[in-house]
Formats: sequence, structure tokens, C-alpha cells
Amino acid sequence: MKEETLFECKCCGHCCHGTATVSVSAEEQQRIAHFLGVDQNELTRQFLVKKGSRTEMKVVDGHCIFYGDDGLCRIHPVKPFHCKQWPLHPSILGDVNAFEAIKKDCPGFGRNASYEAICRLVKEKLD
Ligand code: SF4
Ligand code: SF4
Repeated sequence: MKEETLFECKCCGHCCHGTATVSVSAEEQQRIAHFLGVDQNELTRQFLVKKGSRTEMKVVDGHCIFYGDDGLCRIHPVKPFHCKQWPLHPSILGDVNAFEAIKKDCPGFGRNASYEAICRLVKEKLD
């Protein structure tokens, strides 16, 4: 089975909504700041939030602050690794319940995408 039939993002935006976003590393922050043409202080003030030792993107109106009105990510070329990785996340490996939970909320998985096939895909992406 080809990758497209296993998973193809439908750009529904569901994974950019919720009460939290993902962590953003210092290196990722630099890339985003450069992309937006702001300095680190401005990036932090406008777009980021500290949660303990983690730094995340702010949530505004129930979605990530970088989620655009057009349904697209405003920082797509430099979005954090965790965004690029989603939903083919390593937590799927060895945990069918994690797979089912992620699949339930993501319409990008093919109807016939089996757990085993998705695990193979996740492993391929980790290599
Ligand atoms: S929930 Fe799935 S299909 Fe929708 S934008 Fe996120 S990855 Fe793409
Ligand atoms: S950075 Fe982009 S892809 Fe990641 S949660 Fe925000 S809007 Fe979605």
C-alpha cells in the first residue's frame, strides 16, 4: 500500500486547535523569529508562552496563534518539529490505543490504514 493511501493530510486544522500547542525549541524559536522578521523578545512577547521548563506557542480563540484565517499554518516552512511530525507520532509504536485516539481525531488516515501499516510508516520516518 502506498503512503498516500495510508495518510494524506486534509488540512482540516483540527490538530492546530485545542487548549495547548506543542513545545518550541530555542533553535526553532530562532528560525520562526527570523521568518517573521522579529527579534527574540518580540517573538516571546507576542507569540509564545512559558509552561514550566517548556515554551509553547500561544493559544488564541481555541487555536494556535499561528493558525491562519485561511485554515493554513502561517509559519509552515519553519513550524516546530512536533507539528511536522504529527500525526505520525512515535507514541503510536507499541500502543494501539494511542493510534486509535490519534486516528479518531485526524481525517488524514486512509480508511484501510491498518495499525501495522501505520507503524511501518512511522518507523520509516524515524530512520
Ligand atoms: S488533523 Fe490530520 S488531516 Fe487535519 S490538519 Fe491535522 S494532520 Fe492534517
Ligand atoms: S505552528 Fe502551524 S502547524 Fe503547528 S500548531 Fe501552530 S498553526 Fe498548527
